[in-house]
Order: sequence, then structure tokens, then C-alpha cells
Amino acid sequence: MGRVSAKVALVTGAALGIGKATALLLAREGAKVVVADMKEQEGHAVVAEIEAAGGEALFVSLNVTVEEDWSKAMTAIKARFGRLDIAVNNAGIAYTGTVESTSLADWRRVQAVNLDGVFLGTRYAVEAMKPQGGGSIINLSSIEGLVGDPTLAAYNASKGGVRLFTKSAALHCARSGYRIRVNSVHPGYIWTPMVQGLTADTPDQEAARQKLIDLHPLGHLGEADDIAYGILFLASDESKFMTGSELVIDGGYTAQ
Ligand code: NAD
Repeated sequence: MGRVSAKVALVTGAALGIGKATALLLAREGAKVVVADMKEQEGHAVVAEIEAAGGEALFVSLNVTVEEDWSKAMTAIKARFGRLDIAVNNAGIAYTGTVESTSLADWRRVQAVNLDGVFLGTRYAVEAMKPQGGGSIINLSSIEGLVGDPTLAAYNASKGGVRLFTKSAALHCARSGYRIRVNSVHPGYIWTPMVQGLTADTPDQEAARQKLIDLHPLGHLGEADDIAYGILFLASDESKFMTGSELVIDGGYTAQ
């Protein structure tokens, strides 16, 4: 018996990085997994990997900022699996810029993916889970949703928004008696394509990587699986008394 056996799980941004690791882990633990992303080739590859290991998965092409995509995705999930038990709102983008250097267009682009995407994902998941009597929604915030960084103005705002939006949704669901739990996850720096992209833009990539490592008392960056295991816990019934909580997985970054 897996830890999420017989549950149906949707993971956004599941083609790469933390989302991919989460989709693979949830499948290994018995869930039927919906891999949602804009990257079709990489998304189909994740589905193929799950199926090759004997699991069940479905790819849906989804831009989390587009409401029509959400309604199509939910129809596809209902048609294939008939229900939704777990929704991981993971898709997100990074953007480096201070309050002075960030344009309104860039600000809005970041909020659209990181905040609007999580709002829509939570709203559609609640709609699907409500009539079945429960579910677990996990929203990806960040350490940048807990502490400020002068170079991450738009990203800070989006991830802080995810943190408190998650609590609002959690309270609404709890007080409405829906038995839907909503929690946020706050990773430190994880060595995924997102962070590899940040360091790739600098002339001395090794020095840039070391600078990030030095921010973490454990002395190394995280791996995508470190976050996937936290998400698995929140997705499973092991965390059934948790809602509106913040799960920090950051190698000690915010303990300092
Ligand atoms: P990543 O860039 O490696 O992968 C992100 C995935 O999301 C990609 O597959 C991409 O195609 C998809 N995506 C992007 N925009 C999308 C959209 N509009 N619609 C659908 N899919 C979209 O990122 P990651 O490092 O795996 O990060 C995953 C989440 O974790 C993000 O929300 C990120 O902000 C958060 N996070 C990451 C770190 C880190 O250090 N990597 C730290 C804290 C929080």
C-alpha cells in the first residue's frame, strides 16, 4: 500500500524540477497522477516514466494563468479518473529585480503565474473536491514568502501572497465543513532548472552557486525530492490535522 494509494493527484508545472519529482513520487506512492504543464514534450515524458513503472498518469496542457485551460483540464480529469483528491499548485517563475528595476509588465507577469495561477488552481480544485467530501491542496510558496530579498521584489510579493491566500482558502474550507485542507510549502534554494537558470546568467557560475549554498546552514542546496517528500506528507492522510500551515523545507535558511 502506498501512502496516497487510490487517490487522484494533479500537479502543475510537473514537466520539470520540483513538480516532476512530486509527480513521480506521488505515482510511486500509489496515486494516479495528472501531469499539467505548458511544456508538452517534457510533460509526456513524465507520463511515460510513470507508466513504464506500472503507474497511471495523464498529461494535460495547461497554462495556469488561463482560466479556460483550467476548465478544460478539470473536464479531462473527470473524464479519465472521475475525481480529484490532491492538487499541487507548483507552477511558478523566477524573476530578479528590485523595486526600482522591475517594470510593471514584469511585475504583472510574475503575479500572473505565481499568484493568479495558484488562485485559479485552488478555486478549481475546491470546486472538484467539495462534492466528493474532501481533498488536499498544496500551494508552492517559498522562503521568499517568509523573508524579504531586495533583488526579488515581484517574486517576494507573489510568494507572500501565496502564503496568506493559502490561509484564507484553508479557513474558508474548514469553516464551511468541506474537509478540504489547504497548506503551503516553503522551499529554500533547490537545484532545479529554475535555480540553474539564475546562476547560468552570471559570469562565474560556480561562485554564484557557492553564494547560494552559503545561505543554507546545512551547507548544500536542496534537491527536488526534498520538497516532493514534504508535499507527499501534506497530500497524504498522515497530515489530516494540518490546514493553513506553512511547511518550511530550507536547510535552515530562515532559522538564522
Ligand atoms: P522550474 O522552472 O524548474 O519548473 C517549473 C515548471 O513550471 C516548468 O515545467 C514550467 O514549464 C512550468 N510552468 C511555468 N510557467 C507555467 C505556466 N504558466 N503554466 C503551467 N506551467 C508552467 O521550477 P522549480 O524550481 O521546480 O519550482 C517549482 C515551484 O517551486 C515554483 O512555484 C517555485 O517558485 C517554487 N520554489 C522553487 C525554489 C527553488 O529553489 N527551485 C525555491 C522556492 C520555491
